[in-house]
Amino acid sequence: MCPTCKNEFHLIKRGFYRRPSDQKKVQRYFCKSCKKSFSEQTYAMDFRQQKRWFNQSCFLTLCSGVSQRRTAYIFQVVPRTIARRVKKFGEICEKNLSEYREIRAKVHEVEFDEMESFIHSKLKPVTIPIAVEKGTRKVLALAIGNIGAKGHLKHLSIQKYGRRPSERLFALKNLAKSLQTCVATDARLSSDKCPLYPNLIRNYFPTASHYTCKGARGAVVGLGELKKTVFDPIFTLNHTYAMFRDNLKTLSRRTWATAKRKDRLLLLLNIYAWFHNLWLDRHVAKPRLDVYYG
Ligand SMILES: [Zn+2]
Repeated sequence: MCPTCKNEFHLIKRGFYRRPSDQKKVQRYFCKSCKKSFSEQTYAMDFRQQKRWFNQSCFLTLCSGVSQRRTAYIFQVVPRTIARRVKKFGEICEKNLSEYREIRAKVHEVEFDEMESFIHSKLKPVTIPIAVEKGTRKVLALAIGNIGAKGHLKHLSIQKYGRRPSERLFALKNLAKSLQTCVATDARLSSDKCPLYPNLIRNYFPTASHYTCKGARGAVVGLGELKKTVFDPIFTLNHTYAMFRDNLKTLSRRTWATAKRKDRLLLLLNIYAWFHNLWLDRHVAKPRLDVYYG
């Protein structure tokens, strides 16, 4: 397809060029209707990248509990390069995740809940609602939204940053909207006993059944998600949360590597969610950023 006039027919091959970064021969195309040319790289994931050799290892490193600065140090690139890759990878992974929701078979058992983190300081908390499929532990959808600080930080937060409007319901609605494409009509949704959830489920999944359970105290030091109870009804979800915390440096507790921007944290979450789904299928193929499902 021509990137200028979007036409798919009046295209001819027109020579090659040798890419300076890795000496690969790249096919050029010419569009006869708008007289513009483009190449097979135009739609490639590594279009206009100089350091395309480390994309795959960068993806794996970012999803292995390494900070962005340390990733830059490992690959001997400047931190800005990693920041750009995070943006690029995040967009790809978000697209992959939404395509995955559309092509996969309908899910019958979903667990969802919210995880909390913060942007820059504990005075600016965010909520991260995530939905996973029970059993396979695959991440189906996620969202992010600002929330107000709680407890003894509430007063200080208002004093320092003003009242931050809560985007909790907005984030939950975003999650529900994305979930609608992949959840079966007679699905069973499990969550904890948050008063916001029943209404949300009635609106978005009128025929699904909703099962709630009481939240329990955390067990492992620093992992509030892994519960001490003998049987945790939303274990799949809490296990996934614990994996997010362990493998994304910005989410780990008492970390120095705090997220600085909400949109960038969402990109990182999408990257990890996609990695997580590929990782669960690792007996089929190694997790690769440029491989699609289906
Ligand atoms: Zn054209």
